[in-house]
Amino acid sequence: MTSSMPENFSELPLSPIMQRALAQIGWTKPSPIQAKVIPPALDGFDILGQARTGTGKTASFAIPILEQLDPLRVHPLPQALVLVPTRELANQVHGEFVKLAEGCPTEIVEVAGGKHMQKQLKALAKGVQVVVGTPGRVIDHIQRGSLRLEGLWCVVLDEADRMLDIGFRPSIERILRRCPENRQTMLLSATLDERIRDLANRYLFEPVIIDCSDKDVSVETIEQRFISVSPDRKHEVLLQLLEREEPPQAIIFCRTKIGTAKLHRQLERYYVGRTDRKVRVGTIHGDMSQPQRDEVFKALRENKLDILVATDVVGRGIDVSSISHIINYDLPDECDDYVHRVGRTGRMGRSGIAFSFVSKDQGYMLTDIEQRINRMLEKDPLSENVGKRRESPSTLAQASAGNAPSDQAQEPQPVDATSSESSVQETIQADLPFGSAPARRTLGRAKSRGSVRKR
Ligand code: AMP
Repeated sequence: MTSSMPENFSELPLSPIMQRALAQIGWTKPSPIQAKVIPPALDGFDILGQARTGTGKTASFAIPILEQLDPLRVHPLPQALVLVPTRELANQVHGEFVKLAEGCPTEIVEVAGGKHMQKQLKALAKGVQVVVGTPGRVIDHIQRGSLRLEGLWCVVLDEADRMLDIGFRPSIERILRRCPENRQTMLLSATLDERIRDLANRYLFEPVIIDCSDKDVSVETIEQRFISVSPDRKHEVLLQLLEREEPPQAIIFCRTKIGTAKLHRQLERYYVGRTDRKVRVGTIHGDMSQPQRDEVFKALRENKLDILVATDVVGRGIDVSSISHIINYDLPDECDDYVHRVGRTGRMGRSGIAFSFVSKDQGYMLTDIEQRINRMLEKDPLSENVGKRRESPSTLAQASAGNAPSDQAQEPQPVDATSSESSVQETIQADLPFGSAPARRTLGRAKSRGSVRKR
């Protein structure tokens, strides 16, 4: 294992093809999680890593996997399986693999729920090296016999905490129990709570523990302001803010699907026919079909959208590094959602700015957020004089945290599993070898395999 942290990708023992792919993408410096994960992962160690999206965690497991893949003709069964909680993430992770595999023919398939089954069946039948999928759909394929696990040498549990939140634990365990015991397992999670450690204890073998938690990410890199505004003037103030900021790319968060759709229509009407500035507005919320959502994500990534109006549920999955502005048109009920929203900007160390609209009676919600991020939000000059009690950070830390009222219908939690996914969860694999943590290999896999392949 490398002892000091590599500053540059060229310091990592990567193949010339991978170095070329990285240069082509324009990455020179590994992010902290990449610098910490890639060396032990290449050495075949199991990894228990704490990192959120936006830290470059995908490439931290994708690079070592791609570096060690055997050609399809040598190894015709899937070699690596990446389990992710949502279809959006499956799509992003798949995209990242494809990007990094540039220059070396690699078969990578995405098997997420809600996507075309026939297309997936065809791809799997042709032969693949890497499978990226949501647990329910992966189980579905195992049941159909279209996905075989006996050739796997690596399994990744990405955003494991979200998978557990969604209720995927039984599915994950069923899948893991079917995987070869001497595999390499990498578990990435934003939190390493009791549940995650329990999962790791059962399915990881002497993992290298890597802490790249960025609890204060929004505190450190993102400018955050609040705007006091009465509810009936929010729309007007939003337009003033957009005119002032002219954001290169912004996400406006609303709490409800209806509110999101309404604001989207209003903004479209506002910008249509403007000759001075062309502003393209899109929306994404839980009522949209998967292909519609995919289209919006793609447009955002390709810079074909300037403003996206979104709800938390789908907004959480957005990973577009060019987002410059976050506008919390409605404050979220949960402080964690605030952190997730704000984390959509300032990706990979870029700067970003977040504005939160706060009405007079929401002062306590602002205080909760400030406590959560341990920092006072600055008052933006667009604020009305509605007044707000401003405490010192020390008072904030002591203040009691009230619960935000839920006065509007909330969008349901992001159970991105389709109904077919959930239904198969409970029916599969009564024949699996239940029981104790597997007795595992004694050597790191890549070491025993002979090191990085020549791509
Ligand atoms: P992730 O945390 O994997 O979702 O990555 C967040 C964003 O950072 C993605 O858009 C990646 O393509 C990008 N990214 C990952 N690693 C690097 C790197 N070393 N340099 C620049 N951008 C990166």
